[in-house]
Amino acid sequence: CFCNLQGKVDECSCNIDTVDYFNNIKIYPRLKSLLEKDYFRYFKVNLKRECPFWEDDSKCSMRFCNVESCGEKDLPPGLKGAKNENKYTKEVNEQCSELNNEYDHLDTTLSEKAQKDIDLWNKYDDATDNFCIIDENDSDSEYVDLLKNPERYTGYKGKSARRIWESIYLENCFRPKYSSNLNLYIQNGILSELCLEERVFYRAISGLHASINTHLSAIYLLSDNKFGDPKGVWGPNLQEFQRRFSEETTNGEGPNWLRNLYFVYLLELRALAKAAPYLEKEEYYTGNENEDWDTQMAIKDLLGVISRFPDHFDEKIMFNGDKNLKYEFREHFRNVSRIMDCVGCPKCKVWGKLQTQGLGTALKILFSGKFDNLENTNSKKRFQLQRNEIVALVNAIGRLSTSIYKLDDFKNMLNNKGVNK
Ligand code: FAD
Repeated sequence: CFCNLQGKVDECSCNIDTVDYFNNIKIYPRLKSLLEKDYFRYFKVNLKRECPFWEDDSKCSMRFCNVESCGEKDLPPGLKGAKNENKYTKEVNEQCSELNNEYDHLDTTLSEKAQKDIDLWNKYDDATDNFCIIDENDSDSEYVDLLKNPERYTGYKGKSARRIWESIYLENCFRPKYSSNLNLYIQNGILSELCLEERVFYRAISGLHASINTHLSAIYLLSDNKFGDPKGVWGPNLQEFQRRFSEETTNGEGPNWLRNLYFVYLLELRALAKAAPYLEKEEYYTGNENEDWDTQMAIKDLLGVISRFPDHFDEKIMFNGDKNLKYEFREHFRNVSRIMDCVGCPKCKVWGKLQTQGLGTALKILFSGKFDNLENTNSKKRFQLQRNEIVALVNAIGRLSTSIYKLDDFKNMLNNKGVNK
């Protein structure tokens, strides 16, 4: 069967069946319950920012593209109100009020100038480390309840969706100059001409694409009888999955796209493991003490399991040569995150933004250098991930983990179909 993948995950030393076992039994159930916690449930996103690359060519009219946004009353107490926008932990709140008291005694011109310098410096720091545009501090951003707006089939397709994928692969992935055709580009022959870092970039995007398309096949609109069940009937669509990934319908590429799903999963899993000493100290503050404590315990448990994974992706093999490559890699990825503002379906945009931001956070953890040797750093935090970055990272890995889990369901369905024939 085309989805019975064998051997090692590309660019990694880990076997696909090891990932299957580890994910489906150990990681997936833990992530599933963790992502129901309030801290991870509400994602702040700007759905109004204009597409910077072309005139908005389509607005998805499907009702399943709609996003139910959150009112202030729905949010946990710690996320309510403008005052809390950038201050999600008790610790930071306290530090800020201490600082404010100190500044009260200073000459105001000096403190304003000092503050400006600090702001400029912070902006510069962020600009150089971040792999994507972060919506969290935008005045147009709003909270979306991810549990009420699950990623699934929406009907977004055609010119607009194709344009997004095409511009990601053709303009923003690395490619040999002569391949201006998407189908040519994705063939392995051409991929083999790319260097490791360029292949990693392509595989990460392709894995994300495969994950999105697995989700929409796994939670497909099976019947849209508006008069029967107005919410529609949802479930797995094996035919849709086969059309998207079988060798016959994809020029032999489908199984490689599924392999890339495993690759990007291992990449993000490694980022989570690397940031574990940092993430274990986070408070996961929502203003509800019991819930926050449960979240901290669940994170510790998950990180403990991940640390025992036998064969993590080794990021040290990357960026050892040309210094410019890392800069280019980051710029290309930032562009991909900007393209998410051009997605014509709001629901797809929320999940597209969340997953690119999650992947961007993983890349920042792996390659910015700030998370190296965290175990040996006993000083106070030298840097901070924003709340949205943590929410995006853990949800993004949750998406990939769910896709690998659902792949197993599709495998079983295909095997049973074979038996019944
Ligand atoms: P597409 O998936 O649009 O792919 C275009 C071309 O890319 C294919 O013809 C193939 O040549 C190549 N390709 C396909 N998969 C891969 C891969 N894994 N790696 C490399 N190349 C590949 N739709 C929903 O129903 N729900 C969603 O939540 C959703 N979220 C989306 C989020 C984003 C950011 C985008 C851009 C689209 C989203 N879509 C979503 C749309 C969905 O991804 C498809 O674009 C749509 O279903 C049309 O599919 P298609 O068969 O035309 O091929």
